[in-house]
Amino acid sequence: MKNIKPYSGDSKVTYDEAVNRKKGGAQKNLLLKNAAWIHGRYDLYHKHFLSLNLSPVLSVLCPTVKLKDVLLSMYGYNAKAVRDIRSDIYKRQSKATKEFCQYCGIEEVGTMDHFLPKEEYPEYALNGENLFPCCSKCNDLKGEKDPSLFLNLYLDQLPTTQYLFVDIGIQNNDLSFRFYLHNDGKIDAALFAKIETHFKELDLLDRMRIAADGAQTDFIYRAKREFIKGLQVDFVSIVQDEVKYNKQYYGDNHWRYVWEDALVTSPVFWNYVSTL
Ligand SMILES: [Zn+2]
Repeated sequence: MKNIKPYSGDSKVTYDEAVNRKKGGAQKNLLLKNAAWIHGRYDLYHKHFLSLNLSPVLSVLCPTVKLKDVLLSMYGYNAKAVRDIRSDIYKRQSKATKEFCQYCGIEEVGTMDHFLPKEEYPEYALNGENLFPCCSKCNDLKGEKDPSLFLNLYLDQLPTTQYLFVDIGIQNNDLSFRFYLHNDGKIDAALFAKIETHFKELDLLDRMRIAADGAQTDFIYRAKREFIKGLQVDFVSIVQDEVKYNKQYYGDNHWRYVWEDALVTSPVFWNYVSTL
């Protein structure tokens, strides 16, 4: 997981342009009639986005069901405004963060999440600051849940301290992994509480275990090859260098590098490799 850069355009302008592109008719008239309210909502979002706290934007209802329906219809995955926002956000990211969903760090990006759910906040369906590239698994799990349960990786600055750990064990003669979260006291308590709810709601500890289960064969093979050559110590130091390097790009608490680091320093792992 890593912080990512938000949309660089002016969301309100992007929204207005999308309205202007709409053909005239009842829907467009309804949007124009409610322009003051919608613009006010965009201004409020942007103001609190800049102050890194969206709480004052929450709990406001869209005035009518009809307006809600029209606002929601503005968001289509292939609509020009959505394509422009997606391409702008994508271009602004590093290679590492554009490929993988930063909510989980496991799956590839395939969709856009509305950080404030669009069913509840339809006025932000097209708001670039409210759109977050992610994988469909995270998007489904996040759904319409309370946004305050999740990290907003535009706004919440991730700690550089380690908070994700993994225990290496043996179960039925195979390696087993148990990821867990721990705050050694260096991470602000409110931020750590949000990391915990984010992990819980997106089922991340279990999804990371499954990802590690899938990645283990290649890693064990590499370790075994060096072990046979008597190069275990060198292998440990190479992996630790790789981990340090990769954490800069993928995040200090990326599951794969936390896991590789734990493996090479685990007596359980080396004992397992020696028996293969
Ligand atoms: Zn994801």
